[in-house]
Amino acid sequence: MPVASDAGAAQVQRAAWVRAGVRVEYFSLAWMVVEAVASVWAGALAGSLLLIAFGLDSVIELVTGAILLWRLSIEASGGTMERVARAEQRAARVVSVSLVLLCAYVLASAAYGLLTQRRPQSSLPGIVIALVALAVMPGLGLTKRRLAERLGSRALRGDAASSFTCGYMAATVLAGLVLNAVAHWWWAEDVAALVFLGWLGLETREALEEAREGPGAAADHDQRDETE
Ligand SMILES: [Zn+2]
Repeated sequence: MPVASDAGAAQVQRAAWVRAGVRVEYFSLAWMVVEAVASVWAGALAGSLLLIAFGLDSVIELVTGAILLWRLSIEASGGTMERVARAEQRAARVVSVSLVLLCAYVLASAAYGLLTQRRPQSSLPGIVIALVALAVMPGLGLTKRRLAERLGSRALRGDAASSFTCGYMAATVLAGLVLNAVAHWWWAEDVAALVFLGWLGLETREALEEAREGPGAAADHDQRDETE
């Protein structure tokens, strides 16, 4: 079999994945804008710090989505391998810093809730936003993560983590409302957020290590992941 056509097929396949990544990020950005505006608006109306915080978290997701769109667009428009590698490296750095901010947000929100013994507040816009986020984000995160593995992009993997965070936080809001109504477990939402922080912390640490070590290290980590 001619090797050249195999390489060509792989190139065509990769280009299709990159285009899929660009589409996913456009969708992601559009949703994040809606989520950010709706959360802050509804939060201000209802006087809900939690909703406003959820809106601020959307802004962090907006940043990771935007940097990924930039990085994937460079590859989609036929940038040289060197340019793509540089963009990937820069995106990985921005994403790792964003993940640190996301950790800080989850920790601060949960700690504040526990210390002030905050009761989950039910506001209709808040519930609607959380429901939509819960419906959209896990699938979006999985799609990004699958594409990240295929493209070998650590930056995209980090962006996937920020989508998972969004979906999980939405789930804790909803579960917190139900558990508070049924069992008066006002703390459930914050405790669930702290549990999640364990996973997010690991993802963030890996993202930071790889952003520091450079793209070569990413492959080593991927191999390590597979053996784990
Ligand atoms: Zn979000």
